[in-house]
Amino acid sequence: MAFEGLAQRLQGTLQKIRGKGKIDEADVKEMMREVRFALIEADVNLKVVKEFVKTVSERAVGHDVMKSLTPGQQVVKIVKDELTNLMGGEQNPIQFARKSPTVIMMVGLQGAGKTTTTGKLASVLRKRHNKKPLLVAADVYRPAAIQQLETLGKQLTMPVFALGTDISPVEIVRQALAEAEKEHHDVVIIDTAGRLHVDEVLMQELKDIRDLSTPDEVFLVVDAMTGQDAVNVAKSFDDTVGITGVILTKLDGDTRGGAALSIRAVTDKPIKFVGMGEKMDALEPFHPERMASRILG
Ligand code: GDP
Repeated sequence: MAFEGLAQRLQGTLQKIRGKGKIDEADVKEMMREVRFALIEADVNLKVVKEFVKTVSERAVGHDVMKSLTPGQQVVKIVKDELTNLMGGEQNPIQFARKSPTVIMMVGLQGAGKTTTTGKLASVLRKRHNKKPLLVAADVYRPAAIQQLETLGKQLTMPVFALGTDISPVEIVRQALAEAEKEHHDVVIIDTAGRLHVDEVLMQELKDIRDLSTPDEVFLVVDAMTGQDAVNVAKSFDDTVGITGVILTKLDGDTRGGAALSIRAVTDKPIKFVGMGEKMDALEPFHPERMASRILG
């Protein structure tokens, strides 16, 4: 299960303080030492941990908490609030264009789950938002990626725009936008090429596609299992191409939690969806508060 270690540690720590009728600074300090340790173990970014511990500590030793009738419970609530804030606070919905079509660019490294997520997202848009998406196969470096998207399109009975691999991705996108206009698609989802590493050629190509298609959303798809690497990838994609949100995949696995808890604080970009499995219906909106509740029990 995701966040299992973190959940156990935090719940154990908070259990000790929850029932206390009286709390002093030493209690808070002791608790925060354990919280810090739990977050570091979960592979949360060190700067993020430091900031989190500082914020919670300051609030927890506040006059109104210490003097309240249930200080233990108040402290637990503060931890939950701040964990929610850390993950972005409110759920962050998709931004649709005022004038159709809404263009969504999917970016990420190979293997993160980009193509699968493109299919899942199209399915969500049709089911929950009543949209008519066009999927665009713009990964010309891996013929298998185009086939994979076409297979998903068939499975979902959703059209896929593909022109093979002998044509530039920018040209594919140009033609796809014309097709969307012609066929009245209100959403265009572009599956761009992933590479094994962030490199200049990849970034330049993404910038070219971005400049041509002026996307309403640029979603970075990252694998939650990769922890701090996912955070670094998010930072470099944001710095170079600019992202509007993150989709965290493989949250059905036993990820420790570092990516989910650090990405927002490091990049200031929200996690919009989480992948919860390989099937086409396994994509869920990300709710920071529910996630915090899940972690804290
Ligand atoms: P891409 O190279 O980024 O396009 O990655 P793919 O879409 O081909 O996905 C790589 C692998 O990850 C595939 O086996 C997917 O089925 C799997 N995958 C994608 N998203 C999830 C997820 O949320 N949970 C799980 N368990 N597997 C996923």
